[in-house]
Amino acid sequence: MDGDLSKRLLIVDEKLSLDIKANLLFNHQVENWQLAKNGYSSLKSVKIKIFEFDDFTIEAHYNPGRIISSSAKVDDKSIKERPCFLCVNNLPSDQKAVSIDDDYILLVNPYPIFDKHFTIPTLRHIPQTIYSNFKRMLIISEMLGKTFSVFYNGPKCGASAPDHLHFQAGNFGFMKIDTEFYSILNKYGEIINDANDVTTTAVTNHLRNFISIESNETEQLVNEFIRVYKVLSENSNEEPLLNIICTYNEFWKVIIFPRTIHRPTYFYEEGEKKILISPAAVDLGGVLIFPREEDFNKINEDLVIDIFSQVTTDNETMNFYVKKLKY
Ligand SMILES: [Zn+2]
Repeated sequence: MDGDLSKRLLIVDEKLSLDIKANLLFNHQVENWQLAKNGYSSLKSVKIKIFEFDDFTIEAHYNPGRIISSSAKVDDKSIKERPCFLCVNNLPSDQKAVSIDDDYILLVNPYPIFDKHFTIPTLRHIPQTIYSNFKRMLIISEMLGKTFSVFYNGPKCGASAPDHLHFQAGNFGFMKIDTEFYSILNKYGEIINDANDVTTTAVTNHLRNFISIESNETEQLVNEFIRVYKVLSENSNEEPLLNIICTYNEFWKVIIFPRTIHRPTYFYEEGEKKILISPAAVDLGGVLIFPREEDFNKINEDLVIDIFSQVTTDNETMNFYVKKLKY
């Protein structure tokens, strides 16, 4: 094992489950790492607006600690010119880690959105891509269990390190979709495949259209994900724009949000018209993050609807996917 990594690993009983190790790491870091301590105590001053729709809720959070991530420059040149903040050798000296199967590590995110927010990078500096890493996401989600949701942001859909493969995890129930999943499916869902221990549902005519896959069989679930992935990528070699949320409680629930664009038009405006928001999995999960108070103050239901309609897939495109995915 890498010398730098072994110094960094929090000593915990290897037999403990990953969720318990994650909680131990969290407690350690908020006590011993000033940046994390500050980050989590600043969550107490997050301001929240709640927007009630017919069958679901969207929250807006004013969270100034997220400014770095929301405004991150993720173009190739900027990425090449900065040291990678997910590589072990570049981590702050007080940051500790928990090892996951010798190929990933779990880190406490010092700029949190969730009450408990983890970053889960692979040990190797390889690009953010889901196709061949989806199975690992499932396994990590199962290891973390029902008290955490695991999520993935595509390299052009909110990942602030598109050059270093990573997932994130947060406490289950924070994202509105964690608990509203079935009420949304009941109202907006159409089952498009229900065979081989896999249930795939398309959600359309919804604020943020998505495709969900439920299963307790790893291989079948991976195969179904690949089938969906190929339809979304429409024969392109590039990863389709997407965000994914995965939870595990006796079986997996995977939510795939196909995307249109990375950031809404408001992000690129100047002055009064500008709204700094960079939607990723958490936003699509029902918690919109605003790092600037003036944007949070402006946000209303019409803007919420417009932001989602700009960055998520419209009904027409969803119907096209559904046609291709139905057997
Ligand atoms: Zn890296």
